[in-house]
Amino acid sequence: MPPARLPVAILGATGAVGQTFIRLLSNHPWFRVAEVAASDRSAGKRYADATKWIEGSMPPEVADLIVTTCDPSAVQSKVVFGAMDAVAAADAEPAFAKAGRFVLSNTKTFRMHEDVPLVIPEVNANHLALLDAQHAKGWSGGVITNANCAAIVGAMALAPLHAKYELSEVFMATMQAVSGAGYPGVPSLDILGNVVPYIGDEEPKLEREMQKMLGSVSGGRIADAKFVVSAHANRVPVEHGHTVVLSAKFRTKPSVADAIAMLRAWRGEEIVRGLPSAPEHPIVVTDDPARPQPRRDVMAGNGMTVTVGRVREDSIFHLKLVAMGHNTIRGAAGCAVLNAELLAVTGRLGWTPPGRG
Ligand code: NAP
Repeated sequence: MPPARLPVAILGATGAVGQTFIRLLSNHPWFRVAEVAASDRSAGKRYADATKWIEGSMPPEVADLIVTTCDPSAVQSKVVFGAMDAVAAADAEPAFAKAGRFVLSNTKTFRMHEDVPLVIPEVNANHLALLDAQHAKGWSGGVITNANCAAIVGAMALAPLHAKYELSEVFMATMQAVSGAGYPGVPSLDILGNVVPYIGDEEPKLEREMQKMLGSVSGGRIADAKFVVSAHANRVPVEHGHTVVLSAKFRTKPSVADAIAMLRAWRGEEIVRGLPSAPEHPIVVTDDPARPQPRRDVMAGNGMTVTVGRVREDSIFHLKLVAMGHNTIRGAAGCAVLNAELLAVTGRLGWTPPGRG
């Protein structure tokens, strides 16, 4: 008998990110989707009837699951992946955490709460220490949240450089895919052949979340990294993949060659290596002056690798570069699954994954 996979639930399972969870977990060696939950509109229906499946074919094992409400009394799993509407998450996610469940969330709702970690496992796995502060306020489970999807792409590209040279100022402009707006998302007549230079509430997230992710943890709190960010967010007619152009100034100026070498050598935190969803290289650096491109590079590392290119001198800041990553995989569902794997190998789930006993 192969060892049993852990049953898990997806909140917001019918949406764009929820469907990405279903795809990523379909053949996952440790986790098995046992429960799917969404709004009252979907509850009580077969998953296949409640869901407008967006990409490829729906994995057959989920089609007959009955959708429940996003309520801990209706969902039994200890690991709960969150892809809900942000307003609905405000009540649901703490209710799950109080009931002893671990919520791997994607919503903006709790990102800036001081006891909620924004974890990119390769960058800041030690931020899971904030879960102790959640336990101290009476939650026997916890909430771990992903940052904004474009902020994750930017933070990954900057993390290896910040660790050595320390950021002081960042300018960024994003070109964000339509799948970042969920389903059905942006009306086709607004986006086909067009660029929309505004994404509601996006720039404030880009300007404050990277400092938390790249901050240091001590005494159960995060001290934000001390740099300022100016961000422009644009929606572009690309299906998947957020492209982020970055100019950065550091407390110590790196040479272009040293920065490229550092990005190339970076593998992220040791504990993450070999986890089922961890790419061998969290960052790859391309020498092609016309890359990264979403069409060609978005599935690098099964959607978990951020591709960096065009690292060069900046005439105002020190360095500029282009980073591109998959918004619903590295920027959402894939990062959350990797976070759940991290919880498992750090013993926080009280469950030993197959092959790790
Ligand atoms: P979406 O396609 O609009 O899906 C929203 C999901 O939330 C659906 O499953 C929907 O269920 C459910 N929902 C809506 N109202 C609800 C309620 N009152 N109670 C319970 N469930 C409710 O959105 P998405 O793009 O998947 O995004 C999901 C979350 O992830 C959002 O908070 C978003 O900001 C965040 N996020 C998205 C991306 C991305 O690239 N798309 C990246 C990072 C983070 P019904 O089908 O029943 O309405």
